[in-house]
Amino acid sequence: MKPFSYERPATPAEAIEAAARPGARIIAGGTNLLDLMKLGIEGPAHIVDINRIGLDRIEDTPEGGLRIGALVRNADLAAHPRVRQHYPVLTRALVSGASGQLRNKASVSGNLMQRTRCPYFYNTDMACNKRRPGSGCSAIGGVGHNFAVLGASDACIATHPSDMCVALRALDAVVEIESAGAKRSIAIADFHLLPGDTPHLETALQPGELITGIVLPSPLAGTQIYRKVRDRASYAFANVSMALVATVEHGEVVVERLAFGGLALKPWRVEAAERGPRDPDAIADIVLAGAKSCTETAYKLPLVSRMLAAALETVQ
Ligand code: SF4
Repeated sequence: MKPFSYERPATPAEAIEAAARPGARIIAGGTNLLDLMKLGIEGPAHIVDINRIGLDRIEDTPEGGLRIGALVRNADLAAHPRVRQHYPVLTRALVSGASGQLRNKASVSGNLMQRTRCPYFYNTDMACNKRRPGSGCSAIGGVGHNFAVLGASDACIATHPSDMCVALRALDAVVEIESAGAKRSIAIADFHLLPGDTPHLETALQPGELITGIVLPSPLAGTQIYRKVRDRASYAFANVSMALVATVEHGEVVVERLAFGGLALKPWRVEAAERGPRDPDAIADIVLAGAKSCTETAYKLPLVSRMLAAALETVQ
């Protein structure tokens, strides 16, 4: 690991100032960054530890929603009574991710910022446009069954690893951001970037900006479901995951919100699939429009309609 200096600010303003130093990286739970540093994928010159700047509360908003501080731990968010009662898709997504120990440590802002688990990204002997722009993509034509089938490019076919973000996408969450003297909000839909020609650019967060929280709109009516298909029963990233909110109208199950993980480099939601066809295959056709798979990733396509059919059967 490369040597680095370390700083522990006491306020968000101090953290923003400290993070502006050349080569600085913010650390919260460290459940992704420390691995990346040990493997030589990231080598920050300066670490800004934001664990003592506050931002660790979950509060009701005047609009009836919920504001989640950036440093709330994944486990605390999953267990919060209001989240369990009004946003159960978020609780279920959180508890399906990582392990109990990691959820105790990982922050929600770190979860938003976590990087892909593409095996070639983690192998510094292999070419990777995300790790070293212009070096090539070893995954294309390489070995692996958990690459993107939607939104990929000739430069990168990685997937986004978060479960939490898939639920946030279905819930239309908003990310709150602060920089020196300014605040802004960005919809979760626009926070993560597709790879295009610049897979090293992963989020809309700009240098000098700090995530301060996530806001959930007021709760949705209906049944909320999170399902995850993965290589083993726990502690594995999604092959395909799904956040669903559904209601029953005149005896028919209606998809109100639908987002998928494991298909692309960001949570994948196609609004045209919502409040449209009732048949899972027809809904899946809309979700998968433009999908491109190879022999090793073709299994993901039928999973979309099968997961949907299985989930819709449970909606009452
Ligand atoms: Fe790197 Fe993306 Fe290619 Fe993986 S898929 S090797 S992250 S460029």
